[in-house]
Formats: sequence, structure tokens, C-alpha cells
Amino acid sequence: MIRELTCIGCPMGCSLTVEVEDGKAVSVTGNTCGIGKRYAEQEIQAPTRMVTTTVLSDNGRPVPVKTMRPVPKEKIFEVVNEIKSRHATLPVSIGDILIDDAAGTGVPVIITGDADR
Ligand code: SF4
Repeated sequence: MIRELTCIGCPMGCSLTVEVEDGKAVSVTGNTCGIGKRYAEQEIQAPTRMVTTTVLSDNGRPVPVKTMRPVPKEKIFEVVNEIKSRHATLPVSIGDILIDDAAGTGVPVIITGDADR
């Protein structure tokens, strides 16, 4: 099977052609660098994504947050729902941990913007 992907490793957005056998990438073409090859292999076997969103603070304003590392793609909605069920207690600073283990992924969710009131 052939899969066509667009590399998200940098703004060049190289078009990747991936030959897939038994759920694994056996060849990758179209990549300009090694990041594209690794991205394609990961995307075929176990796709992951960073989650960036906001959480409401205790004054009702949104505070930006993100996962500290990429999470499995199939867990994104669970991670977002867990974030939406929380609120940030002000004051908060960049790097503060909102959730230690988002949706059982083992990945923390951290605050990405300062807010004091
Ligand atoms: S293959 Fe390399 S150059 Fe091309 S989009 Fe990915 S990271 Fe950028």
C-alpha cells in the first residue's frame, strides 16, 4: 500500500510517499531531510500530536496550555476533554503543570502563558 503524507517537520511541507507493508513504512521518498523519514515512519506506526488549547482560569478567562510531549492521536479528544474539565487557579506562570498525566498518556499538560488575575 502507498500512503501520501505531508511532512509537518518544518514549513517546507515536503510531500512524502510512503510504501507500507504490514503496518510499517518500508520506504519513504520525497523527504528533504531525515526528519521527514522519521515523521513518516512514526505516522504510519503510531501517529502522535502535540495538543495546544486553552483552559479556563478561576476568573473565567482562558489560559493557554499544551501537552509537554506529543500524545497518541487516538487520545487527543480524551486529553482535550480532561483539559476542559479543569480550571487554572491564578496566578499561573509558563511551565506550571496543569495535569500530571493527561488521559492516562503519561504526558503532562503545562501552562504556556503567564496570568495573574
Ligand atoms: S522532510 Fe525535512 S525539509 Fe521536508 S518538511 Fe520535513 S523537516 Fe522540512
